[in-house]
Amino acid sequence: MRAVRFHGRGGQGAKTASRILGTAAFLEGFVAQDSPIYGAERRGAPVAAFTRIDTLPIKQRGAIVHPDLVVVADASLVQDPAARVLEGIDERTAVFVNSPLIAEQFQAKTSLPGRLTTLDLTDIALQQFGKRGAISALLGAVAGRLVGLQRESIREAIARELADLGLAAAVIERNQTTALQCYDAVPAVPLETGSPRPIVPVLLRTPTYEPPTRGTAGITAGPNSAIRSVAGWRTFRPVLRPDLCNGCWLCFANCPEGAIAIKPDGKPAIYYPHCKGCLDCVEVCPTDALTVERETEAAREA
Ligand code: SF4
Ligand code: SF4
Repeated sequence: MRAVRFHGRGGQGAKTASRILGTAAFLEGFVAQDSPIYGAERRGAPVAAFTRIDTLPIKQRGAIVHPDLVVVADASLVQDPAARVLEGIDERTAVFVNSPLIAEQFQAKTSLPGRLTTLDLTDIALQQFGKRGAISALLGAVAGRLVGLQRESIREAIARELADLGLAAAVIERNQTTALQCYDAVPAVPLETGSPRPIVPVLLRTPTYEPPTRGTAGITAGPNSAIRSVAGWRTFRPVLRPDLCNGCWLCFANCPEGAIAIKPDGKPAIYYPHCKGCLDCVEVCPTDALTVERETEAAREA
């Protein structure tokens, strides 16, 4: 089994990179599985994607807790606790970071464990495409190189996955050419899986059932589960003034994060670790019972 975890920010293409890797592995006759996990629909928010590759049927599902390879699309994520880049990394883990620093410099700066490789994919993309944007093909190619897949399967996988996204043939070809340059620029790092690593059960937040006392019944759960707090994303937070609340539950129904629960008295309660600060609840509140306050570190930690 090869377990690869991608970290990126919304819009950088980590999910597509994980698909490219999985498709390339599939083209070489492996069993492959890939899945993303999003924090929210916001550009720039940390996202992760997972690819498992094996010669046998893959029975594991969900997040990869002990990766063999970690691919980081944005160096700033390494220091961001919300991104959880360091989770499960040990000295055996191969790590790739998109950074202008050479591996030794980056390692000294961050104390990253693992065997590190770097390449400035953003600069390469700027030179080749003339703009910042998705670097999915480049990331996928580097990951393919590091897990030992072949050039031709990477090329074909890029064509398939980028065509699915509706990109023009000329753009796909440019991505393929640039991605394979990145493939060649990264030295292969033999992955060491050693003895099997323990499978750590991840505790998910238990869904709650809201009885149909008003409207329809609802089943809610923080879509990111208890393993990921989005509190660090807020610049503003919604704050309830209970005396103005008429108990209409519009805020509850509109919260995209399932961060609002209804208390026994019928009034809403905001669960701040899962509130990303989109302020949709404030928008829909008909009585101005939800106000907006500037986020502070003290409030975040309370
Ligand atoms: S701001 Fe309101 S709607 Fe947005 S996540 Fe937080 S509680 Fe939910
Ligand atoms: S939308 Fe406003 S009035 Fe309605 S339950 Fe939420 S806070 Fe109360």
